[in-house]
Amino acid sequence: MATKSIELLTEEFNKLPSIGRKTAQRLAFAILEMEKEEVERFAKALIEVKEKVKKCIVCGNFSEEEICDICKDDERDRSVICVVEDSKDIIALERAKMYRGLYHVLHGKIAPLNGKTLEQLNIQTLVERVAKNNVNEVIMALNPDLEGETTSMYLTRLLKNFDIKISRIASGIPMGGNLEYSDMATLIKSIEGRRELKED
Ligand SMILES: [Zn+2]
Repeated sequence: MATKSIELLTEEFNKLPSIGRKTAQRLAFAILEMEKEEVERFAKALIEVKEKVKKCIVCGNFSEEEICDICKDDERDRSVICVVEDSKDIIALERAKMYRGLYHVLHGKIAPLNGKTLEQLNIQTLVERVAKNNVNEVIMALNPDLEGETTSMYLTRLLKNFDIKISRIASGIPMGGNLEYSDMATLIKSIEGRRELKED
């Protein structure tokens, strides 16, 4: 039987994505084996990341400044916005080094079953960006699953009255696949081969 404190810590680890009960317990015991200073550093890093990192007021990307480095970068093509589910997708796309436009992070996708509603997504600022800036193209780069598709279609409808091209990354990424885990060649191919989305 684990003590109450161990149990409590296990429960906290268990809340993290892809950490099952057994792994959570193993992590809790690993913490117990660590030096006190090490644990303090760990705890401090947890608090600090939450205190220092905020969402860029322009695109929603995680940043330690009010406006993120990508939005600040004058070298980037400001006429193209690539819409992604979360900041991790930007890291993947940036690693492929072929996209030079801006991004917009939704922080999720429409998934009523998981309690993600429209209001919780960073959608309003996307519409404002398209309305106020000289945007020529919006690329939907959501993960190719049902919720991703639904969200893409919703956004396409929302933006249809603007005189812009709306495209979607090509389906090099398999259905149910994830941008974050796609290899670079697949990512490059899927952006190069993007297709215009038409609304009927
Ligand atoms: Zn930004």
